Amino acid sequence: MDHNFCVGCNPGSSLPFCAIGVSPSNAYIENIINNDTLSILENFVCHKTAQDLSTGKLFILSKCDDCGMCQIMCPHTNIDYTTFFNSKLEKVVFNDFGRASILFQKIFSDASVATEVQVKGNFRTKRIDLVIKKGTDIFLIKMLKTTDKVPFYMRSYDEVIGQYHTLYPDISFHSLCLVPNAKMNDTIRIGAEIVDLSTLNTLIGGL
Ligand code: SF4
Ligand code: SF4
Repeated sequence: MDHNFCVGCNPGSSLPFCAIGVSPSNAYIENIINNDTLSILENFVCHKTAQDLSTGKLFILSKCDDCGMCQIMCPHTNIDYTTFFNSKLEKVVFNDFGRASILFQKIFSDASVATEVQVKGNFRTKRIDLVIKKGTDIFLIKMLKTTDKVPFYMRSYDEVIGQYHTLYPDISFHSLCLVPNAKMNDTIRIGAEIVDLSTLNTLIGGL
């Protein structure tokens, strides 16, 4: 990764987009379906505290692990973010819902994105790891580092979809499991749709 991509910007009194992002918090699926304004939390972009912005430009410290998050988030670079879909970025995404939310809001900028989304009705205690709504399609996505519990979670998510499909018949609900690329070839005895970052990007981007 090129550490000298920063061209400098002036975000005023706040931190630049390479350093801080916002993610919706405490959202319910209904809020996303109804396009409600969601409360938000601020999150640092860098998971290694490897950024120095004291000069007004981004200087990347040696403890950076080249995850690519800051370069993807910078609005002044014109990169192909798919070149960062690798195990380093996966490590960030699968370990931290806040940063996952920031990343997916950026790459799916024409969709509504939220993590740890709450469910009402018979499923009060459930939270959906990642929800992406684009048009009338809404994806309930379980994020798993391994595939052994995919059947369990997909059954659980499909139960939620069964309830919401009745309430919102005009919305197309889908369940997906997001796994690291290295797990894509695992044999899973269920008709669940398994995606990695790259196939999720293609799927949502193609809608
Ligand atoms: S990396 Fe981008 S967002 Fe961050 S300071 Fe530089 S130009 Fe601004
Ligand atoms: S590439 Fe990742 S680890 Fe390195 S400075 Fe940017 S956000 Fe931090």
